[in-house]
Amino acid sequence: MVSRVIPVDTFDLVIFGGTGDLARRKILPGLFRRYCAGQMPRDARVIGAARTDMDSAGYRDFVRDAIEEFGGGRDCEDGTLDAFLKQMDYIPIDARGENGWPELAQHLPDSARVRAFYFSVAPGLFGDLAERLQLHGLADSDSRIVVEKPFGRDLETAKALNASLAEHFKESQIYRIDHYLGKETVQNLMAVRFGNTLFEPLWNAQYVDHIQITVSETVGVGGRGEYYDKSGAMRDMVQNHLMQLLCLIAMEPPAQFEPDAVRDEKLKVIRALDPVEPHHIVRGQYDASADAPDYRSAVNDPRSKTESFVAMKIGISNWRWAGIPFYLRTGKRMSTRYSEITVVYKARNHSIFDEQAGDHRNVLSIRLQPDEGITLGVTIKEPGPGGMRLVDVPLDMSFAEALGEDGGDPPDAYERLIMDVIRGNQTLFMRGDEVEAAWAWTDPIINGWTARGDVPKPYASNSAGPTDSEQLLARDGRAWREVNS
Ligand code: NAD
Repeated sequence: MVSRVIPVDTFDLVIFGGTGDLARRKILPGLFRRYCAGQMPRDARVIGAARTDMDSAGYRDFVRDAIEEFGGGRDCEDGTLDAFLKQMDYIPIDARGENGWPELAQHLPDSARVRAFYFSVAPGLFGDLAERLQLHGLADSDSRIVVEKPFGRDLETAKALNASLAEHFKESQIYRIDHYLGKETVQNLMAVRFGNTLFEPLWNAQYVDHIQITVSETVGVGGRGEYYDKSGAMRDMVQNHLMQLLCLIAMEPPAQFEPDAVRDEKLKVIRALDPVEPHHIVRGQYDASADAPDYRSAVNDPRSKTESFVAMKIGISNWRWAGIPFYLRTGKRMSTRYSEITVVYKARNHSIFDEQAGDHRNVLSIRLQPDEGITLGVTIKEPGPGGMRLVDVPLDMSFAEALGEDGGDPPDAYERLIMDVIRGNQTLFMRGDEVEAAWAWTDPIINGWTARGDVPKPYASNSAGPTDSEQLLARDGRAWREVNS
């Protein structure tokens, strides 16, 4: 199946932090792939702007290296990279000073083209950039800014960030990225829920027993130890990525697939979350493995109380979900790299079969990685003679298999999200009030740990996390879906 590529309007995209890690690994290769696909217009311009001292020729070499290292995987005609590089420029700029700003203004003479500014720099510079864009007349009423995570480290800092951006830009111009929302399967979650008659009538407390969301990583903190130790799994993963998945699973159907309609419904979910009881949360820190240090050594703090794993039971107090637990977990150095949302349905309320048939229930799994796809577990008769014994089999919809080559290699989240910015579509970006509501729910949990001097439980590397995490569900007569590949 060949997907249609509709070119976007021509644009000028300025990447502040254009020499940084994120630009190198995600933004620039993503743009190139959209260029190869024919979506990026041949007169669009990309301007790298960062503190690094280099000229445009040097930047093109930098971009070429980045694409050769991270951009492969798609067929692209010979010579395309050279043509793409011709559309790149670079300006050394200081977000906090005056260097480079007049040059940038000269590069952006035509305000009729879509103008976007990607803030791929530390959040401490967001306010400075917004102010200088305004000062130099670059922020017209149609220009867009893209901001990266982390968006604050608590409610207070998130509010301050929102306020500093709001001084210069309207909410409709601000694109807060959560790259989980750009994943193909995450959008498919909405397509499955709202594009079929089959699921939505059963998507509630009457039929659903519980929902699990697991995002497990095999990597440790790596070179990000110092940054990670100041945030931990709760701030780094739960407040943003898992919260967004939870919102899409739990929200009411929006009236239209339209930015504010979707974001209004997500916000209602966050506001309906119950405070989490301390005994409904398990925190963990990974131990050393044969070939890697333990968490505390990795972050260079033998007394660190930051969690590299968190599991929790969450309630949503609204008509649809009252009484239904949502179990969330995420961690580093787990046995498998694996992200999945699982809807476990209730057992049927009456069985016509005898006890031998066993206890069966339907399970809908939405796999984000690896092998994006959706599986519905259905109960059938075990083949052969020997009575009516039942067995669960998967109705498997692997996107790669179902949609052929094109569906099997979907655009990376960043590719899609950058094109959405150019198109002016905010549906897959977080609104300021959503981010603040998520922090308002997260803050008391983190503050509670600090006040109680809570110490995370150690867990073995290459495992499913601390054993207390198993207990969290076992107490309710449930079990985590096995973390497997
Ligand atoms: P980085 O440290 O690799 O790069 C920072 C960039 O900012 C460099 O280009 C640097 O020249 C520029 N810069 C620094 N100070 C500046 C100044 N005063 N004026 C102008 N430019 C300046 O950082 P990164 O990893 O690319 O991250 C960028 C942002 O993206 C951060 O907010 C980070 O939290 C976020 N982010 C990064 C990743 C990732 O995978 N790297 C993932 C998610 C979010």
